[in-house]
Amino acid sequence: MILEALQNNTFINLSYILASVLFIFGLKMLSSPDTAQRGNFVSSLGMLLAVVVTLLSKEIVSFQFIFLGLIGGGAVGAIAALRIKMTSMPELVALLNGFGGASSLLVASAELFALTTSNLVAMIAIGIATIIGGVTFSGSLIAFGKLSEIMPGKPYLFIGQKILTGLIILLLLLLLFQFCSGIFFAEILFGFDWINEQYALILLIALSLLLGILLAIPIGGADMPVIIALLNSYSGLAACAAGFVIGNNVLIVAGSLVGASGLILTNIMCKAMNRSLLNVLFGGFGATDSSSSSGEGKVQGDVKPINIADSYLILEAASSVLIVPGYGMAVSQAQHSVRELGELLQDNGCEVKYAIHPVAGRMPGHMNVLLAEANVSYDVLVEPQDVNPIMDTIDVCIVIGANDVVNPDAREDESSPIYGMPVIEVDRAKTVFVLKRSMASGFAGIQNSLFFKQNTRMLFGDAKESVSGLVSEFKS
Ligand code: NDP
Repeated sequence: MILEALQNNTFINLSYILASVLFIFGLKMLSSPDTAQRGNFVSSLGMLLAVVVTLLSKEIVSFQFIFLGLIGGGAVGAIAALRIKMTSMPELVALLNGFGGASSLLVASAELFALTTSNLVAMIAIGIATIIGGVTFSGSLIAFGKLSEIMPGKPYLFIGQKILTGLIILLLLLLLFQFCSGIFFAEILFGFDWINEQYALILLIALSLLLGILLAIPIGGADMPVIIALLNSYSGLAACAAGFVIGNNVLIVAGSLVGASGLILTNIMCKAMNRSLLNVLFGGFGATDSSSSSGEGKVQGDVKPINIADSYLILEAASSVLIVPGYGMAVSQAQHSVRELGELLQDNGCEVKYAIHPVAGRMPGHMNVLLAEANVSYDVLVEPQDVNPIMDTIDVCIVIGANDVVNPDAREDESSPIYGMPVIEVDRAKTVFVLKRSMASGFAGIQNSLFFKQNTRMLFGDAKESVSGLVSEFKS
């Protein structure tokens, strides 16, 4: 009796509405650091409700398979989460995006084989879920390869690439039309009467996987954040289409929310680089950079190294310090020492602020998460556009493992591939300390003229060791 009431469609749909409301409030709360943790909890509660209610559905064919999937997937997920290094998190996120796309593709394909009669809406949903799912899967695998450096990070361009990509998109649209309408040109033109929806689906899958690869390989250097955000959005859109395929309302809502938020993030990332989406997708950033004036290895003058003791003396006398973290802080896990240094500087009467560039690190919000983990107060964070105008009033900028996001060539060198990208203008501060291990370039693979500026001092070494050294100097 109770089970029957729970399996009632009205109850299920009301629960889905409640789950969707929890998702929306959760997302809203994620937009502020103060409420983000609660937002995460509220959204997970919504997901739990959605999963439990879905499991009550009368249409479930096999609980054994669900149980097996739960155990298998849970075990792989738990092992991956436990073993993954914090610095490999972006790669894991790229991979998970891909798996999201692959599962939508599989759900849609399975549904085609289960269909007894073909109905237009179902066929459109299956076709779209397959295409977006396939593009997301192969595109994410390429992003994973580039982020984990299994593949070269540089854009891969070849003659006729755009034409081939355009052709594949056209073919996909034609095939989608045939797939949905059941009118197959190969049958009409060449008499291939064996062509049917299932063959068309296999072709759709193959072409979308190829399209994903073609869309991801020309992306390189500083443009990677855009493709990560875009693939995240695609995985949501694929899930939304899969929701239409299996007629699950909460999957439609959740997928649309991921799709929309991913698109907003893509837009933010494009703005952070002052590029249009089309330019990012087809511009081939950095493909021809190595011989430019900003090419890696190009000597631009002498660098001035500094040691910890001398850095301490300058910091001890500073009345304002701006800390700019980057990917190197994540590699060395220096965030806790950085917070300690910030507090010691404040105790010394210095005003300390942190500036985070939107594309710093290897995933959106990477630096914010690390600083939050170290309990750095959000009150001391400043936006790059707010701090840049007053940069010349700052005594010392400490650049901790950041490189591309502080490269002055973005303002000064028109031949630089990152020319026009808004950066944190640390070179305009009175003194700049750059904490890194060597003269190596950042992710974009371009040399940084900041290292050769008159007011820059290079504090070579692992960021955590250097910051801990400064902390020890302050304490003694
Ligand atoms: P960069 O990749 O430009 O530079 C990181 C620097 O950290 C390197 O120059 C490296 O120099 C240094 N470093 C590495 N390990 C250590 C260590 N243990 N101690 C000290 N320094 C270290 O980082 P940014 O954060 O400035 O810029 C991010 C880049 O990544 C941008 O190009 C962005 O577009 C791209 N990207 C961003 C994504 C995102 O979503 N945020 C996603 C994908 C790419 P050295 O080896 O000499 O120590």
